Amino acid sequence: MALEFDLIETYFKPLSQGLSIEEVGIGDDGAVLSVPENHQMVVVTDTLVCGVHFPLETSAYDIAWKAVAVNLSDLAAMGASPGGYSLGLTLPDNDQAWLKGFASGLRAITEQFKIPLIGGDTTKGPLTLTVTAHGWVPNQQAILRSGAQVGDLICVTETVGDGALGLKVALEQLDKGFSSELSEIEKQALLSALNHPVPQLAIAADLRGLVNSAIDISDGLLADLGHILEQTNRKQHKLSAGLVLEFGAEIELEQLPLSSAVEKYITQTHDWSPVLSGGDDYQLCLTLNKQNWPQLQKIAQQYGVRITQIGRVVEQKGIHCLMSGKPVADELIKTTGYSHF
Ligand code: ADP
Ligand code: MG
Repeated sequence: MALEFDLIETYFKPLSQGLSIEEVGIGDDGAVLSVPENHQMVVVTDTLVCGVHFPLETSAYDIAWKAVAVNLSDLAAMGASPGGYSLGLTLPDNDQAWLKGFASGLRAITEQFKIPLIGGDTTKGPLTLTVTAHGWVPNQQAILRSGAQVGDLICVTETVGDGALGLKVALEQLDKGFSSELSEIEKQALLSALNHPVPQLAIAADLRGLVNSAIDISDGLLADLGHILEQTNRKQHKLSAGLVLEFGAEIELEQLPLSSAVEKYITQTHDWSPVLSGGDDYQLCLTLNKQNWPQLQKIAQQYGVRITQIGRVVEQKGIHCLMSGKPVADELIKTTGYSHF
């Protein structure tokens, strides 16, 4: 398949840089990688399907960026330092302009996070991208979902809800009256959150040993925080033969960090779903012991990442949303996160 070969040589091989001379990237039957001493490999995979994970009219540049970004976000949640990624690409046709845009999106994220493209596969069919990324953590230091403790503070990075509201902007689903209240800058920021999420990889290594659990918010804050609680509860069941604590969480809605656009949206519609169950945030949700909060704040300042305390892990099962310290009616927040099936 000459065409496939040209495509790989032209667009993908140049991104296979930054490996040591003992290592092999694109060009052979497989990549050959050296494993850093005393480290474990963290491997993540995410697939993006056109029309499911991004609207049909999304630019090739944004599609490439996002396909890699969502994987780097998973690595960040594990506390991993970036290693490399491979790309399974299914293309409907050989559109050179599209491929150029796609390759420049790949280049941008490859260079920003200094993570080489080490291989992949190219096939013909409906546009689909599967990225598998790997990273490294010192032995036994990966941050797991299952490590939360009762009393832990729950925090999130940056703001939540922008990606989900960005999707409403992209699909023109916002009420015209409300849409006209958003400035052009606000709309662009929402679209950028949707199409150009920035994984929190810079702080990932510093979170090791500092936080008890972490997850990246891809399916919605409540669903993803629910995964932390579920995994933590499962581990508790395994560890203890007798009485088991069932962990839950309290979230203070007023403390959730929101952009001006999302705040306006909630004020007008009282619809919290973009924030609580919208997904596509690619921010980190962390739990940590209170005594580590000052150190986490230091890291936040050092990297210029906003980190906000939004609640705590409690002994009561379930996730309880509070407003001014009082429970919020369930109808308001009856949202469970994105599910594919
Ligand atoms: P094979 O037939 O042995 O699977 P391919 O022609 O699929 O070989 O791949 C040749 C080389 O190009 C391999 O090193 C492979 O990892 C790389 N490659 C193929 N497709 C992609 C892609 N979409 N992105 C990055 N590398 C790719
Ligand atoms: Mg192949």
